[in-house]
Amino acid sequence: MIDFHCHLDLYPNPQGVRDECVKRGLYALSVTTTPSAWKRTSALSADTPCIRTGLGLHPQLAQERQNELALFDSLLPETHYIGEIGLDGAVEFRSRWRSQTLVFEHVLAKCRAVGGRIMSLHSRRASGAVLDYLEKYTGAGSPILHWFSGSLRDLDRAIKFGCWFSIGPAMIASKKGLSLAARMPREHVLTESDGPFAQLNGRAIMPWQVENAIQVLSQIWSLSPVEAEQNIHRNLQTLLAESGVAGD
Ligand code: MN
Repeated sequence: MIDFHCHLDLYPNPQGVRDECVKRGLYALSVTTTPSAWKRTSALSADTPCIRTGLGLHPQLAQERQNELALFDSLLPETHYIGEIGLDGAVEFRSRWRSQTLVFEHVLAKCRAVGGRIMSLHSRRASGAVLDYLEKYTGAGSPILHWFSGSLRDLDRAIKFGCWFSIGPAMIASKKGLSLAARMPREHVLTESDGPFAQLNGRAIMPWQVENAIQVLSQIWSLSPVEAEQNIHRNLQTLLAESGVAGD
């Protein structure tokens, strides 16, 4: 199983969740919300090939943490994976839009300068703007829109641009999320939990609950669950090969 967007460091017991992921043979991309969380979070993946850590600066924290951009720059050579980054256009974060775009543009420019990175992107109520910046910084790397919730028009634009998508149990629990998932090209889809932020029935989703998403995707794709999971594994191999990190 693949969880391409989780926040291992934010579970109450990160080491325990990490151990359970390894035990289950799960491949996880553990994203961070601040550059200062990188050191401690990447330590969780130090002795296992199954867990990768993303270097991020979450748009909701852009204003408070833009002083960590220098730290971001110094850590960038250490990883192929960037996240969580992006923009958040929800009304409570709208007043911080300038800091958000400043941070996002900085990150995209730096990623482009080092030849591109695999990027896990937040685009809540900002999918059009995220796509505008991805177009402006073509060459920043391979974009994965995590928990995409934008319009069908923006989805079609993202597909045309070559974006990837990570889909989790919380996203497909809604009718809208399900219809977006059904429209995404199956060769560009990965699974995610977004735990512990994302919840199911009032409880934080665990990385191995991507199983629920695999079940739903198998129905959408008219495949068996085993075939759907194989499809997602193939997709990850393709993404890594395209991004020049095959074997990493
Ligand atoms: Mn997240």
